[in-house]
Amino acid sequence: MTKQILLLPGDGIGQEISKEAEKLFNWLDQNTDLKFEVSRELIGGTSIDVYGEPITDKVLRLAQDSDAILLGAVGGPKWEQLDFSTRPERGLLKIRKELDLFANFRPAIVFDALVPASSLKAEIISNLDIMIIRELTSGIYFGEPRGIKKISDNIKKGFNTLVYHSDEIERIATVGFETAMKRGKKLCSIDKANVLESTELWREVVNDVSKKFPEVHLTHMYVDNAAMQLVRNPKQFDVIVTTNMFGDILSDCASMLTGSLGMLPSASLGNINPKKKLRKAMYEPVHGSAPDIAGKNIANPLAMIQSIGMMLEYSFNAFELNAQLKNCINNILKKGYRTQDIFNNPNEKKLNTSEMGDMIINELEGSK
Ligand code: NAD
Repeated sequence: MTKQILLLPGDGIGQEISKEAEKLFNWLDQNTDLKFEVSRELIGGTSIDVYGEPITDKVLRLAQDSDAILLGAVGGPKWEQLDFSTRPERGLLKIRKELDLFANFRPAIVFDALVPASSLKAEIISNLDIMIIRELTSGIYFGEPRGIKKISDNIKKGFNTLVYHSDEIERIATVGFETAMKRGKKLCSIDKANVLESTELWREVVNDVSKKFPEVHLTHMYVDNAAMQLVRNPKQFDVIVTTNMFGDILSDCASMLTGSLGMLPSASLGNINPKKKLRKAMYEPVHGSAPDIAGKNIANPLAMIQSIGMMLEYSFNAFELNAQLKNCINNILKKGYRTQDIFNNPNEKKLNTSEMGDMIINELEGSK
């Protein structure tokens, strides 16, 4: 059946990398069993310029009805003076909220050819491939009460509430186990159950959910130890599942193991859409709209291309196709082709955005 993809290029380099994404969808459509119908719509600043709002109801409806969403990036200096409630970023938050995209996936994958560019020793990061799953719609960033209050003439207090309901933990834990089943059947749940009751509950619920996934080897780790282990020996992990704030911090730490921002894809998943029998899903590079290089055709499209790879695997169970795509990226990098952000020495060959997109298609053609 044809997959309905909503493509939201957004702002800045989002426009440029989306063109390379369309080349890949065309190739997949013509050369594999998966068929795609890609519709392009506006989000962020480009939507504000045309409709006066960062996302329209029509686009939200299309998002609800699509099989998967691919987003470029939103934001830029042109819209920074606007009120927070009407800024480009609100479009992104609205779509995440409307679709209840509670599970944020951030892989940390190191490509062989980029190992020497890392700040860590090669033996620690070579062949690294871990997946961090962060709870995205609850926890301390959303808990009430929150605020800053004056409690005496010279003392104020700032406070937030770390709260999790068992059903929120259950659904993110289930996603963690399902992901582990598709990978190495190994899941590490990260909490601070020794001092925080909310994560004591987290551990209890994760243990309960584990009974439905007897094949998955489950471990628990405290977050302070996890931060240390991620840098000391990251390859001990396969899939990590954790709370909103711990995931925010740990995923940034893990992403830097891999080098450039231009290489990092992500996925945000929600509940199963009963009409589609698929999880609601939005895929996007981790980076932003990069106003400093926008319009120059020099952005690295590989985070966007790998976001499509995640879509193939997570929404459409096309594991082999994603493996083929990763292999192509690895080959391109091994041959020394680089966009400017990952260009390290004069022996490498510098490509612009569209040349890198074409290179992906050439490599896929060669791998048929
Ligand atoms: P950024 O990720 O856009 O850029 C940070 C640096 O990384 C820049 O020097 C940029 O040139 C470089 N970079 C980023 N992606 C690259 C790529 N694919 N290839 C080569 N170089 C790349 O972050 P920022 O500068 O802090 O933010 C710029 C705008 O993007 C802001 O308006 C911010 O709000 C927005 N933003 C959006 C998202 C999103 O849409 N998900 C995420 C982060 C930031």
